[in-house]
Amino acid sequence: MKICSLASGSKGNCLYLESGDTRVLIDVGLSLRETLFRLEAVGIDASGINAVLVTHEHIDHIRSAGSFSRKFNVPVFASHLVCAKSDKYFKKTMVNEFESGQALTFRDIQIDPLPVTHDSCDPVGFVIESREGRAASVTDFGIVTRLITEKLRSCRFINLESNHDVDMLMNGPYPWELKQRIKSRHGHISNEESLALLHELAHGGLEVLVMAHLSEVNNHPGHVERTTESFLRDQNICAPKIVIGDQYKASCLMVI
Ligand SMILES: [Zn+2]
Ligand SMILES: [Zn+2]
Repeated sequence: MKICSLASGSKGNCLYLESGDTRVLIDVGLSLRETLFRLEAVGIDASGINAVLVTHEHIDHIRSAGSFSRKFNVPVFASHLVCAKSDKYFKKTMVNEFESGQALTFRDIQIDPLPVTHDSCDPVGFVIESREGRAASVTDFGIVTRLITEKLRSCRFINLESNHDVDMLMNGPYPWELKQRIKSRHGHISNEESLALLHELAHGGLEVLVMAHLSEVNNHPGHVERTTESFLRDQNICAPKIVIGDQYKASCLMVI
C-alpha cells in the first residue's frame, strides 16, 4: 500500500492511495495545476492513477475532480446525489455513480462509500479493501456513528478528520452561527471526538494514521500531533506513524 496526503484542510483536500494494483485519488480539491505539481514533487505518475473518488460536493473536495478525470481519461466515482448537484464540475466527464452505503468493485479493490453526516447533499467516507488489506478516509463529518466505528475497524491506514479544538473554536473569532454549524452533527469532528474514535479503532495492525482537515484558525498541528501520540502511547495497543495533514504541502509518499 502507498499513501500520500497531497492536501488537507478547507482550502483543498486530496489523498493518494495505492492498494493492490489500483491507484486512486480521494477528492481533488486543489487546482489541477497544483495537484499535478504536488504529485510530481512526491514522485507519483499522475497518468498512472486509475480513478478519482469524490466524498461530497464542497469545493475543497471537488474543485478539480472533473478536470483531472478528463485530462487522464479516468472515471470519477461519486454518489448519485452528488452527481446531480455537480453538473458544472462533471460536464463531459466519465462518471460512475454509486449509492451511498453500497460497496462496489473496481479493478482489484472494493470501494465502500460510507454515509456520514455533514452539511452537504450526500457525504461519504471511503473504506478501500484489496488483497493488501483495508484503508479508510473519513473527513467532513459531524458525529461519529456506530457505522463509522464498525467500518473503520482493522484498517492498516486511516485518514481521519481532527478539525478543531473545542475551546479554540468557542473562544475564537468565528461568528456564533458558524461555531454552531461546525459543532453540529452536520459539521466537523473535534480533536477530542477524533481521539475517542481512535480509542475504539486502535489495533496492532494500524500502521499509518493521518490526522486530517485541521482548521487553520481553531487548531494547532503541534497540539494534535502531541496529543495523538501520547494518547496512543498510553493505550499501548499500536504505534502507527502519525502524519498531520497539511494544507500547503504534500506529505511524503508512505509505503506500508
Ligand atoms: Zn472539507
Ligand atoms: Zn465539507
